[in-house]
Amino acid sequence: MTRNSKGSLVRPYPLPQSASTPVVTPLSPSVVYASETPDALDDQYEGRVHGYTYSREGHPNADVVAQRLDALEGAEGGVLTGSGMSAVSAVLLGLLKTGDHVVGGNQLYGRSLRMMKEDLPRLGIATTLADPGDVAAVAAAIRPETRLVLIEVVSNPTLRVADLDGLAALCREKGVLLAVDNTFTTPKAIRPFEHGANIVIHSVTKLLSGHSDVMLGYVVARDPALNERLRVFAVTAGLTPSPFDCWLAERGMLTFDLRFDRAQATAVALADHLAALPGVRRVIYPLRADHPDHARAAGLLGQRGCNMVSFELTGGRAAANAFTRGAEGLSFAPTLGDVGTTLSHPASSSHRALSAEERAALGLSEGFFRVSVGLEEPEALKAVFTEAVAAAAAVS
Ligand SMILES: *Cc1c(COP(=O)(O)O)cnc(C)c1O
Repeated sequence: MTRNSKGSLVRPYPLPQSASTPVVTPLSPSVVYASETPDALDDQYEGRVHGYTYSREGHPNADVVAQRLDALEGAEGGVLTGSGMSAVSAVLLGLLKTGDHVVGGNQLYGRSLRMMKEDLPRLGIATTLADPGDVAAVAAAIRPETRLVLIEVVSNPTLRVADLDGLAALCREKGVLLAVDNTFTTPKAIRPFEHGANIVIHSVTKLLSGHSDVMLGYVVARDPALNERLRVFAVTAGLTPSPFDCWLAERGMLTFDLRFDRAQATAVALADHLAALPGVRRVIYPLRADHPDHARAAGLLGQRGCNMVSFELTGGRAAANAFTRGAEGLSFAPTLGDVGTTLSHPASSSHRALSAEERAALGLSEGFFRVSVGLEEPEALKAVFTEAVAAAAAVS
């Protein structure tokens, strides 16, 4: 065939060959993969050779990120999904059936709570919420038809610490799966499989990707059969992420270790700094001696802690407004794990749907803020907080 006649076909040219390989993972947006013959396709479907067919079923960019996450969690065969919530959905919708019962932590991420309260009951799956720091309360919630307990290690935004070891022992005894959403803590602070969890979930959107430009989730089960059910459900439900998001996530994950260490060390310093400022009523940080779960946090998280610090201004909404206005250069935005420090005000955002009484029961006053500590120079960050807290105190 001459070059000209080839040029009149739509996809005439194979990829240029190269004896050397790229250092950076190539971005592979192709939805479909062509096979040479039906025999070759058979080999792929029968698992005799590895190959891709259709990107909802899997693609190279998802696989390289999943492998990295598997290594971090000490797992194998994890599934990448288009968001953290799709990973939560894969567990709750992919593994449970009508008539089953689930126990959820009573301070789960807002959308996970919503799924517990609204969506699962609609499908005939009963749910109970219980305090994951209180094993007896979770034990009391377990019924003969309970299949799964879903918790987070550190709660949002009150930063209470779950009794992971106690819950793992309880779930083992009762024959119930323990699923841990490890987004806040990350595998740098804790690896839930080492504590007896059966399933680990991540919103990769947060610290793991780290730059607030990717939505991605990950789920992995220790039992390969369970993992296969999660994978098949994710493919069927179409939870597969886009190659571009995976490509960005991989790039972000190259610096995850360094970012986590820096942010966590700064969080320790910021927590102590805030506690000494007039105008701050209390500071919540798991590694501080005045934290209600300090001993458990020290045992579970060691010196890692996390990059989240919560605190309460002495003033109300006016002080909160003055604080965010005064916190120049920090984003008042409902996310966490970004390279930059972000501020969240639960009363006006994540917990606005709660009644004032419900918020008060959690200690979430108008002066309550959650800080996701980023990579700013620690002294500069402290100075911004000093000024913003002073601005808040001036109107209290
Ligand atoms: C953000 C978050 C989720 C949801 O993740 P998305 O990627 O936003 O869907 C789930 N759990 C926790 C703890 C989170 O912080």
